[in-house]
Amino acid sequence: MLALFLSISRLDGSIEHQILEWELEISTEFDNSFICRISKILQKYQLPTAEEIMKNPPSKYIWKKQLQKAINDYWSSIWTEECNTKSTLKHLSLQNNPVNNPHNIWKCVRNNQYDIKKAELKCKLVTGTYMLQSIKAKFSKNIVLPDCKLCKDNDETLEHFLLECTRLGDVRQKCMAKLVNKLREIEGGGWYNRRQ
Ligand SMILES: [Zn+2]
Repeated sequence: MLALFLSISRLDGSIEHQILEWELEISTEFDNSFICRISKILQKYQLPTAEEIMKNPPSKYIWKKQLQKAINDYWSSIWTEECNTKSTLKHLSLQNNPVNNPHNIWKCVRNNQYDIKKAELKCKLVTGTYMLQSIKAKFSKNIVLPDCKLCKDNDETLEHFLLECTRLGDVRQKCMAKLVNKLREIEGGGWYNRRQ
C-alpha cells in the first residue's frame, strides 16, 4: 500500500496524483479512504505526512531505507518495553534490527515440521511456559506427580530438565560442548576461564 502511494506521489501531474490530492483535501480522520489509511500508517511509524511526501517524494531507495528504519524503530521500542516489563521475556534478548533479524531460536529453523516443533519447545522453555511435570503437579494440587517421566529419579523442574536428567545426558553433552567452544571463542576464552 505504501509502495503504491509512493509510486503515485512520484507521478506528478497524473490523474492518479490529482485524485490523491483531492482525497487528501476532503478526507477526515475517521473515514476509510486510501489516503486516510496511508496517513494513519505514516503517523504510526512517525514518518513524514502524506502531504509532505506528495509535495516532495523521496527516491525509491531513500524511501525503502527510511521505511525500514521507521518500522524497525517502532517494533524495537515496543518489544524492548515488553521485554522489560514481562517476566516471561526476561531471558529473550532482543537483537538489533529485530523485524528483519528474528531471534536465534527461529533463525535456525529449517522448513520442516521437526525443526518447527523443536523451536516451539525451546521458546516455551525460554519463556517459562513449558508445562514441566513439577508445574503440572502444582496446578493439579499434586494429583499429577511431579516426577520426571524420563529418569523417574527426581522432580521434573527446569533445572532438572536442562542440567541434571541422566536420560538427557547424551544430548546435553553435545550441546554443552558446542556452547563451551562458542564461549571460548568469545572474549578469547575469558568467560569460560573465569568459571573454571
Ligand atoms: Zn529426569
